[in-house]
Amino acid sequence: MSATVLVIGGGIAGFAAAATAKEAGADVSIALGRAGATFLSPGVLDFAQRGDASPLTQIEKSVFSLLDGYVIEPTELLTIAGTSRTADGRDETLLSVSALQEDGAVAVIGRTASFDSRYLAKAFSATTKRSFVALACDAIQRYADERHWNDAELASRFDEEERLAWLARILGEGIQRSTTKIAGVLLPNILGTKPGVAARLSAMMKLPCGEVVGTSNTPGFRFLEARDRALARAAIPVRRGDVEGIDFSSSGRVRVTFADHVADVSRVVVATGGIVGDGLRYVPSEIESAGALPLSSRATFEPSFRTNAPLPIIAPGIADRPSSLFGEPAETFRLSLTAKPSPFLRAGFDRRALPRGILVAGAAAGEGTTWLEAFRSGCAQGSNALI
Ligand SMILES: Cc1cc2nc3c(=O)[nH]c(=O)nc-3n(C[C@H](O)[C@H](O)[C@H](O)COP(=O)(O)OP(=O)(O)OC[C@H]3O[C@@H](n4cnc5c(N)ncnc54)[C@H](O)[C@@H]3O)c2cc1C
Repeated sequence: MSATVLVIGGGIAGFAAAATAKEAGADVSIALGRAGATFLSPGVLDFAQRGDASPLTQIEKSVFSLLDGYVIEPTELLTIAGTSRTADGRDETLLSVSALQEDGAVAVIGRTASFDSRYLAKAFSATTKRSFVALACDAIQRYADERHWNDAELASRFDEEERLAWLARILGEGIQRSTTKIAGVLLPNILGTKPGVAARLSAMMKLPCGEVVGTSNTPGFRFLEARDRALARAAIPVRRGDVEGIDFSSSGRVRVTFADHVADVSRVVVATGGIVGDGLRYVPSEIESAGALPLSSRATFEPSFRTNAPLPIIAPGIADRPSSLFGEPAETFRLSLTAKPSPFLRAGFDRRALPRGILVAGAAAGEGTTWLEAFRSGCAQGSNALI
């Protein structure tokens, strides 16, 4: 039987693993479960640590270029918290402050459940070195019922050319009435679920237009669209639905069980995510023994699938702590992009102890605290799958 690779998990690590293995000539397919951390993240691309922006290798560049709508370049972005932050790359729909002309104010436009242009313009003016104005043309909702829509639903409306032209006209009228010179336009996460919408609006307005770094799922939907198009272009077969079991036979083959199907492959890349993506579940011991909480027992994790193989999960930095989330100081459990991310984000399968035939990538290996770290981990394991 020829070598076959099955990648499990459709986040950025799984996508990168499948695309890399395919480029290297493997017979590869991918299992896409539910949404994970990549779907929840806001479209900001960071390396594992600030300053670790070593250039992508040729193969990483080639895999990255399959995903349309993303750029890797140092940039400054505006966040829903009314502050700015630097990043190593972005969903191209996010407004890059670095790309705006020096003079002129940024027009902040729109009102949704989480985006209030008046409040944000004030906040950005106070927290950044640029000036911001809220323009009196908050009409991004065209129909009354759209006021109750979430950002992602509204964003799908702006995939339509006619609707985008309407937005350009409304924004243009607001900018004409303004006495301030405008250098760019900042909007909520409504600029389409497909790539290119912000670029088309910018061309219509003859001004850079883009989104805030928000908390909505719109960038997540854009990722799913971009991933599915890239998998189709690379001719990588897709199976939808969770993997229920991974079983190893003494012959070295791996049996992967879905609800309605069993696949028999020679290599599996587990890219099922960490505790944020639900690939690893945190099972503190008090679930079994409520009330009798030991002060310093090991925290326990379990994978999102059953398996007959020893797949040890390690969580460096947690073993010596109390086994309850309540024992973990709140400030250490966060999506930290600093040099010391929460140990919970570093929990993953122990690569040193894996049986032959199985590889792990991204957050499932404790290498997914950031988008680009998970991407690189996926590329590396996709290429190892052929060794
Ligand atoms: C709210 C939030 C904000 C973030 N902000 C940033 C940021 O600003 N900058 C940055 O660089 N990074 C950020 N990140 C981190 C970044 O999103 C992650 O590092 C990265 O997406 C991890 O990718 P992954 O592919 O390893 O895991 P995931 O994206 O979690 O993918 C794992 C996939 O496997 C699937 N899966 C799990 N179990 C199974 C199974 N049994 N069968 C089949 N499929 C399964 C899951 O459903 C999921 O789709 C953020 C993350 C979150 C959640």
